[in-house]
Amino acid sequence: MFITVEVEVVRTRITLACTECKQRNYNTTKEKKNHPERMEIKKYCRFCRKHTLHRETK
Ligand SMILES: [Zn+2]
Repeated sequence: MFITVEVEVVRTRITLACTECKQRNYNTTKEKKNHPERMEIKKYCRFCRKHTLHRETK
C-alpha cells in the first residue's frame, strides 16, 4: 500500500516584515520560481498604523 504525500515543491513559506519598525506582520507563501528575489509588498502595519513596505525575511 502506498501513501501519497502532496509535496509542496515550488511554494515556499516566507515572513513579511515591516521595513520601518521591523515587526513581522504577515506569513505567506510564494512561488520561488516566479519570485526568486526578495519580495517587497506595501501592506498595512498595525504597529506603524499605516501602509508601509514589507519585505521578505527568514
Ligand atoms: Zn511597521
